[in-house]
Amino acid sequence: MTIGIIGAMREEITPLLEFYKEYERIEAAGNTFYKVNYKQVHIIIAYSKIGKVHAAITASIMIATFGCEQLIFSGVAGGLTKKLKVGDLVLATSLCQHDVDISAFGHALGFIPEGKLFYESDSKLHNLALQVAKNIGLNIYEGIVASGDQFIASQEKKDFITKEFGAVAVEMEGASVACVCDNFKIPCCIFRSISDSADGEANVSFDEFLESSAKVSANFVTKLINEIVADLS
Ligand code: SAH
Repeated sequence: MTIGIIGAMREEITPLLEFYKEYERIEAAGNTFYKVNYKQVHIIIAYSKIGKVHAAITASIMIATFGCEQLIFSGVAGGLTKKLKVGDLVLATSLCQHDVDISAFGHALGFIPEGKLFYESDSKLHNLALQVAKNIGLNIYEGIVASGDQFIASQEKKDFITKEFGAVAVEMEGASVACVCDNFKIPCCIFRSISDSADGEANVSFDEFLESSAKVSANFVTKLINEIVADLS
C-alpha cells in the first residue's frame, strides 16, 4: 500500500518529515517528493505550493507516478463559523470550488460541466479518522470545506462562501485534490486545522498560527496512518 500526504506549504509537511525522520528525496514535475518506508506501507509526502493548480499537479503525480492508492491532505484553513477556533481540526465531508463562476450560462456557482459541485471525502477513511479522534479524545469538526485561489480575509467574502456553499472552512487546495482523486477513483480525505477566521485579521492570525496549527493537523494524520496500517493486517 502506498499512501500520499500533501500539504500546500513547507510548514505543513515539516512536522511529518520530523516524525518519520528517514526519507528518500525524489524530484518530479518541478517538485520534491519524500518517500518514507513505514511499517508495511510506503508514504509519499510533498508540499504542492499554494493554490488549486499546484495541488492538482502534486495529487496527479502522487497517483500516476508514485502509485499512491489513497491521498490525505494535511494543512491549515480559515474558519467560517464562530464555533471554529484557532487550532481546531476540521475533517472535510465534501469540498467545493467557491471561485468557479460559469453562471452566465445558467450553471450553479462552483459547478463545472462534467465535473461535480461537491467532491465527497472517502467514507472509509472518514470513519477511520473519526475513530482515531474518539480514541485520543480529540474533538474533530466535520463539514464542507470550500477551496479557491484567494486568501479570504473579509467578512463579505466569508458570508458569501458560507451562504452559497454551506462551508465551515476555507482554503486554497482541498477541492482540487478531491477532484483529482474522484477522477482517478482514489480515496481521499482532507484535514485542516484552523489558522485564522478568514476575516480582516486573517493575515496576522495566519502568520502567528501557521506552524502550530499545521502541527495539529500533521500529528493527527500520523495517528490516522497508524490506524490505516493496523487496518491492513
Ligand atoms: N503567507 C503565505 C500565503 C498563505 S496563503 C505567503 O506569503 O506565502 C494561505 C494558505 O493557507 C493556503 O495554502 C490556504 O490553503 C490556507 N489558508 C489558511 N487560511 C486561509 C484563508 N483565510 N483563506 C484561504 N486560504 C487559507
